[in-house]
Amino acid sequence: MKCVRCRGRAEVQLRAHNAAYCRPCFVFVFRRQVERAIDSEAMFSHGERLLIAVSGGKDSLALWDVLADLGHDTTGLYVGLGIGAYSELSHAKVVAFAERRGLPLRVVMLDEHADGLGVPTVAGRTRRPPCSACGTMKRHWFDAAAIEGGFDVLATGHNLDDEAARLLGNVIHWEMDHLARQRPVLAATHPRFVRKVKPLFLTSEYETAVYAFMRGIDYVVDECPNAAGATQLVYKDVLNRLEAASPGSKLAFVKEFQRTAQPAFAAAPRDTPHDCERCGMPAYGTLCAYCRLVDEVERKTAAHAGAPA
Ligand code: SF4
Ligand SMILES: [Zn+2]
Ligand SMILES: [Zn+2]
Repeated sequence: MKCVRCRGRAEVQLRAHNAAYCRPCFVFVFRRQVERAIDSEAMFSHGERLLIAVSGGKDSLALWDVLADLGHDTTGLYVGLGIGAYSELSHAKVVAFAERRGLPLRVVMLDEHADGLGVPTVAGRTRRPPCSACGTMKRHWFDAAAIEGGFDVLATGHNLDDEAARLLGNVIHWEMDHLARQRPVLAATHPRFVRKVKPLFLTSEYETAVYAFMRGIDYVVDECPNAAGATQLVYKDVLNRLEAASPGSKLAFVKEFQRTAQPAFAAAPRDTPHDCERCGMPAYGTLCAYCRLVDEVERKTAAHAGAPA
């Protein structure tokens, strides 16, 4: 198998792109693909300050690696979710990556923070699925950290597989509001929101894994223990089977949604957020989703403490 760029010996084959590359060409093409996604969606420009949400996994660390190498002003953000050994290991990988590359890193540890609430505590007390509690908490702390640090943009490592699975879930349940917001760039619609971007939205999980390997990025390989029960994995599995039978399906699904259908969903009138009465973050009711979650934890903790043994 030959590299389609230099005719040298290929190391990786990308069936969705009907192409094969040697190591240097793959790294070059991967970066160019990310750069093109950034430019075509006008995600951000040089000179803007980027906060990169890094979990310790391959996607977010590959993203940070690419953006730093492209000369952007990047700072990592690690939010410690308090999920036992998984969180400890992922924290260590992020710290080691930042140190090795000499890149600035901000860390927010949820169970050491003012509310003292890690994901397992919140999920346990509210009886919500861990990923639902985790999503609300991460969104809150990502926004809070971006505003506090005066960043222009928050970038996450969501890849093509994540976006395709999310799209499938949103379509199956016809989540009109979610479909209207499923964009690789979300403008700041509130003074306490920053622009959110997903530069890897057209880059497959396989490609980021290969990139991370070729670049020698040391990432946490094990999934979060809560991932096993997540519906997202079922959607990913279905999409992987579709992709195996018809290479390029995921890319077409996400790309064509963005090009043809998404603008129609986004055109429907939607509420604009106002200020949470407690913390000032964007809210669609009196309180934001995070403050409502914290209230629920407190209410249920108090009820539990008052219950007869
Ligand atoms: S799998 Fe669920 S709980 Fe674990 S990090 Fe992801 S969203 Fe959070
Ligand atoms: Zn080559
Ligand atoms: Zn709030």
